[in-house]
Amino acid sequence: MHTRGEAMSSDSAGFDAWSAMLQRIDEAAALIGLDPNVHKKLRVPRRILEVAVPVRMDDGRLEVFTGWRVHHDTSRGPAKGGIRFHPDLDLRELNALAAAMTFKTAVAGLPFGGGKGGVRCDPSMLSLSELERLTRRYAAEVAPLVGPERDVPAPDVNTNEQIMAWFADTLWMLSGEAGWASVTGKPVVMGGMTGHAGATSSGVVTCIRAAADKLGIDLVGARAVIQGFGNVGGPLAFLLSSAGMRVVAVSDVEGAVYNPSGLEVSELSDHVRLHKTVAGFAGAESISRDSIWDVPSEVMVPAALSGAITAEIAHKVQVSFIVEAANGPTTPEADEVFAERGIPVVPDILANTGGVTSSYFEWAQDKQGFAWDPEMTAARLRKFMEEGFEAVWAKADLLKVHMRLAAYAIGLERVAEAIVVRGVFP
Ligand code: NAD
Repeated sequence: MHTRGEAMSSDSAGFDAWSAMLQRIDEAAALIGLDPNVHKKLRVPRRILEVAVPVRMDDGRLEVFTGWRVHHDTSRGPAKGGIRFHPDLDLRELNALAAAMTFKTAVAGLPFGGGKGGVRCDPSMLSLSELERLTRRYAAEVAPLVGPERDVPAPDVNTNEQIMAWFADTLWMLSGEAGWASVTGKPVVMGGMTGHAGATSSGVVTCIRAAADKLGIDLVGARAVIQGFGNVGGPLAFLLSSAGMRVVAVSDVEGAVYNPSGLEVSELSDHVRLHKTVAGFAGAESISRDSIWDVPSEVMVPAALSGAITAEIAHKVQVSFIVEAANGPTTPEADEVFAERGIPVVPDILANTGGVTSSYFEWAQDKQGFAWDPEMTAARLRKFMEEGFEAVWAKADLLKVHMRLAAYAIGLERVAEAIVVRGVFP
């Protein structure tokens, strides 16, 4: 177990997510001539709460974990962002993820600011009851920051609707109020939404369709490569093959599989349910985890952790375009290579906004006390994603820059407008 203060990260080795975020903010700020006072404000997270999370383990020992909740900016509304449990989590990565939420919610046109939090722990080493005690104590420690009008957490890497249920129940027990709208990604019985789990993947599909349309690529029979087969990568592989694409290679932390005719995704899912990894799937050739970058395809989707695509990988991939389902999967150096090679990248702060948009719908319904029709919810999600894509595409065209810079430019402009009109307190 790691102790408080250790400097580690769940990014790929050596990648500093916060430096990469600052570089992106600076670049977009220069492009749009951002007010230097606003720029200064956005280079520093608004507030950071670090908490000790003592947990009584099943064998009677006490373990003390470290947790955080970060609010990067709340000028456009309550902080919004996931809760991550990971053994390598660190504050610089959380700062970057919180800032990404600030711009993501702005690009998606949602009335939220940016937040992120989590606990440095390895959930695979905890029993279910230890995980519950850890979640509840973490919720109690960060509760002063959380609420429908303050900060609305959601699931992220290694957290799920059960963890959101324990988190929301803890808030209710502490306050005596049914604060359903304080947390999203909850079970349906607690004011959650059917379809929340697949919303990020559906949003990625909308972006793949929109990008293919702009680039004149027919998706039927086109090849897709996906890094990661978790909450996002798994449903995404299914949706893409249902749309007639060939998902030719998929990887996870244990290995990768390749089939040039297209993987049978439902059989692959059965294999993963049984073996907890894609590795060894009989309907494909097993390849090493990092060999997926050598597989030619029309679309490549990183759906694992930050910093996965380095400049070296960017030089060798043979793809028509990339759609970032993961947060921060492409390093700034790799971005430059893609720009030189003319390979479009649909950036994370646009491509993976399906999840947070769905969270917005859940929050709105919980505040209304009225559940929407699922078909209307799906149609609204598609509309938000299509509008976001069109806005970013048009901005990239107007400014003659790549889509990431265009997305940051839109995000910065929208956040800056709120900061300026609200003024600086006191
Ligand atoms: P997850 O933990 O469910 O899945 C992650 C997958 O990546 C797993 O299959 C894991 O084995 C694989 N993986 C980890 N390291 C790898 C490596 N080195 N090489 C290949 N595969 C590796 O997480 P998730 O919820 O699917 O999230 C994936 C990414 O998408 C994260 O960056 C997350 O922040 C982002 N994201 C998720 C959501 C959501 O709704 N879950 C929303 C927005 C963004």
